[in-house]
Amino acid sequence: MFNSGKDLSGHAPQNLAGQWEERWHPLREEWVMVAAHRQNRPWIGQTVATKPKAIPTYLSDCYLCPGNSRVSGKQNPAYSGVFVFDNDHPCVGPDAPIELSAPPPPYRNRPANGMARVVCYNPRHDMTLAQMEAAQIANVVEVWQQQTLDLGNRPEVNHVLCFENKGEVVGVSNPHPHGQIYATNFVFKTIETEMLASQRYLKESQAGRNLFQDIIRAEQADASRILYEDEYSIAFLPYFARYAYEVYIAPKRSVPHIYELDSKEVASLAQALKSVTVRMDNLWQMSFPYVMPLHQAPSDGGNYDFFHFFIGFLPPLRQPNLIKYLAGPEIGGGNFLSDTSPEAKAAELLGVSDSLHYLEQLPSEETL
Ligand SMILES: [Zn+2]
Repeated sequence: MFNSGKDLSGHAPQNLAGQWEERWHPLREEWVMVAAHRQNRPWIGQTVATKPKAIPTYLSDCYLCPGNSRVSGKQNPAYSGVFVFDNDHPCVGPDAPIELSAPPPPYRNRPANGMARVVCYNPRHDMTLAQMEAAQIANVVEVWQQQTLDLGNRPEVNHVLCFENKGEVVGVSNPHPHGQIYATNFVFKTIETEMLASQRYLKESQAGRNLFQDIIRAEQADASRILYEDEYSIAFLPYFARYAYEVYIAPKRSVPHIYELDSKEVASLAQALKSVTVRMDNLWQMSFPYVMPLHQAPSDGGNYDFFHFFIGFLPPLRQPNLIKYLAGPEIGGGNFLSDTSPEAKAAELLGVSDSLHYLEQLPSEETL
């Protein structure tokens, strides 16, 4: 379905609308260059040949598996659900040096206050979010809620960033399903940017509109990029995506922090996470790598009612084994050049199952 009509000759198709244009990223207030027309080496979209490595359910030298010892000498309990512990190599923490030598102006420094934690999603070493039951994913969401609340209440913490790095291409060699939490004394730049954009939108739009609510409305009006929707949650590949398979998952109700979601919204969010991650894995029949941050308002006591919590997926791959390299435009210039059209990428994800993970499928008689 999604491969039809592609021009494989290397010539640009006649109608370049939607393929070659600049799209406004309203949350970052910047332009994204979409240049999908110049994919000169079309990839005939078959599944990737790399065989999944057999991963054991338990590994005696994994520092995240139940019962094992970590570098700090501490021992993991024989946990059965979600397990949280203080990071043994924290980037921010209570032990950070307090006495610092001041650099010459305009330079500044300060103690790296805060807390860094690790969240093991599941005791099984070979699990991933995509393979977990929606109810188990809901338990992870509940831990994000509790951690955001608890860490955000600490006086030295102004922002709580929950995230997952998944896959070797984003530097994670241990497949044990886990995420991290950085509770910092500063607000991460992405959130600061999105807050300013949301505030400006509220002020400049008539009747004080919520920016993210309008993004949801625009996605619903178009509908082609929506990957999941139910009464409480929506998942879509945004119009202004910077990465080929970038996906946002959001509650429909605007809340600044994840802990404000009720149990129905949590269950729905978990279902949306399940659906999206299963689609990603099924796309190339591989464990799909990504960086997944939770976008939450600061935890500094301010009023952030205008901010809409959501989960972002930033997958680094454009094709199996082909990374989107950040180069001149992105690193040098600060704006993204997208080599793919969000509509085409959403169609690819919509073309695979969101309920049956490829590893759960019975061996097919068909040989591919
Ligand atoms: Zn493990």
